[in-house]
Amino acid sequence: MKEKLNKITGQYKSEYNLDTRIDIIQEGLNCYFNRKGNYIFFAIDFIKNGYTNNNLTKRSGYKDFENNLVFALLHEIHHAIDYKNNSQKFDDEFAHVNIGLYRDDKEYHHSCPFEIRADEFARKELVKWIEVN
Ligand SMILES: [Zn+2]
Repeated sequence: MKEKLNKITGQYKSEYNLDTRIDIIQEGLNCYFNRKGNYIFFAIDFIKNGYTNNNLTKRSGYKDFENNLVFALLHEIHHAIDYKNNSQKFDDEFAHVNIGLYRDDKEYHHSCPFEIRADEFARKELVKWIEVN
């Protein structure tokens, strides 16, 4: 699975000419894009342990773990693309976010404009990575 995630990462880095560092690791307590540091931290276990209570299945439209894992990675990759394309817009939008709610309330979190765009991108791109058995 990690191999597939790294393949996906390589594909979008080259397609969008991204110089974002993307660390995909097994164990960890979070997945996020850090815009100031220009890196993505992506812990597989974080998705594995929390994808049902993180609204991921609802957001992606898929129930299985693998598709949700790819969806979550594509979501973070879009934040990096978005920031690269227009960092001022991203910063402005982030400045209007209620940080407390953003950290604690997943419903609120996913209603922010840059989060909505990231989910739209992830849903659109996910179909390219679904394996037919
Ligand atoms: Zn996000």
